Amino acid sequence: VEIAALVEENLRLVPDFPMQGVLFRDITPLFANGPAFAELVALLANRYAGKIDMVAGLESRGFILAAPLAAELGIGMIAIRKAGKLPGPVVGVDYALEYGTGRLEVQPASVPKDSRVLVLDDVLATGGTAKAACDLLSQCGAHVVEVAVLMELIDLKGKDKLAEIPFVTAVQVR
Ligand code: 5GP
Repeated sequence: VEIAALVEENLRLVPDFPMQGVLFRDITPLFANGPAFAELVALLANRYAGKIDMVAGLESRGFILAAPLAAELGIGMIAIRKAGKLPGPVVGVDYALEYGTGRLEVQPASVPKDSRVLVLDDVLATGGTAKAACDLLSQCGAHVVEVAVLMELIDLKGKDKLAEIPFVTAVQVR
């Protein structure tokens, strides 16, 4: 089984969520499917074993992916959160959202210097979230090995925002 098949078989398309005109790709069914979720984590662990020192999850669905992967590999998980959720000291970065701006924060104490970090999230849309996460990790002295997502919304060209940072997705949709 490949990750792409697990994603495609456990996906729900939700029109007009969270706002009119947006087709939301809901991957919650994959988390609710025990055998599929276990297989997903095993496949991710197989891909990254020995190649990373830490895995960074992006709030909130990235946490659901990053935590079991970290546990499976016996490495640490870094929580990259929306502003105001983490007790200090934190460093933050502002970034553009499709509508408005957002801010992500991390505790530098959770990021070992020179560590090889995988950035993990469910979906890459405009790429603003993933790019901000990579900037934060770099500021903390870590090395981003790769940004990995289950699904890339290719029409939004988020990959361009990541520039030279290695990027991998299981599924591409328009
Ligand atoms: P970006 O910053 O790339 O525009 O947005 C990516 C963030 O928004 C990710 O954290 C992702 O969870 C969320 N997101 C945007 N569109 C979708 C979608 O269609 N489905 C899901 N599951 N998440 C989305």
